[in-house]
Amino acid sequence: MAELIESKQLPCSAADARQRIAENWQRVCLNVAEATAAAGRQVDEVHIVGVSKYVDALITSWLVDAGCRDLGENRPQLLDQKATWFAEHRPDVATEIQWHQIGHLQRNKVRRLLTVKPLVHSIDSERLLDEVLAEARRQETSVDVLIEVNVSGDQAKTGLPPTELPGLVERFFARPDRSSSSHGVQIVGLMGMAGWGTDPHQARPQFSRLRELRDSLVDQTDVDFPELSMGMSGDYAAAIAEGATLVRIGSSLFEGLL
Ligand SMILES: *Cc1c(COP(=O)(O)O)cnc(C)c1O
Repeated sequence: MAELIESKQLPCSAADARQRIAENWQRVCLNVAEATAAAGRQVDEVHIVGVSKYVDALITSWLVDAGCRDLGENRPQLLDQKATWFAEHRPDVATEIQWHQIGHLQRNKVRRLLTVKPLVHSIDSERLLDEVLAEARRQETSVDVLIEVNVSGDQAKTGLPPTELPGLVERFFARPDRSSSSHGVQIVGLMGMAGWGTDPHQARPQFSRLRELRDSLVDQTDVDFPELSMGMSGDYAAAIAEGATLVRIGSSLFEGLL
């Protein structure tokens, strides 16, 4: 990943950068709405997670000012730092932001991360799920998570092998301590990524595979797993056509600045 773009090293004035981000946000919202309508779905079924991992906290705040309230980061330290920055510098919007942990999460980062109450997209092992549950109980908080599944078969990609999904979910549901009314962990869906270098055309069957895996979990457990986090800047239309409810979009929102 490239270095974080900082507000003081922008290729243009801050005012121009703000304007650019606002236009990018509008354009992406429109494109997502069009893809949603083209798939015969309701516009409010798909939410955009603005992936702000490329830029510093101040530039991230311009995306929030443009209208984005869901922010995704792949490094938990950066997510935490930015959440702290918003609490200090932008209390007017800080409480409206839903943070999303979308990148690989190490177990020793869980404690700190949960204080921000993020939606965790990247549960890629049973040990990590157990750690998040233990920590949620310790903090007496409630955490929503997605299980990240490797649907591309790409060795370089993270995610649980699809064959391990039913067992993990079965053992989780067998735990009496998994959630109470006030604290615990809810698995609300699945997350997936197309393999490196796949074009949107090749990505689509991988997204449909993720939806099928979700549907079989619903059959297995009789529980709803409503969220499907799939699709990025290059392939979100294909993901929406296959049922995505959360699209994780970064580079398209910062076009002209990266
Ligand atoms: C960076 C990242 C994204 C956003 O990708 P873009 O191509 O910049 O839209 C989405 N999901 C994950 C897990 C990422 O790390």
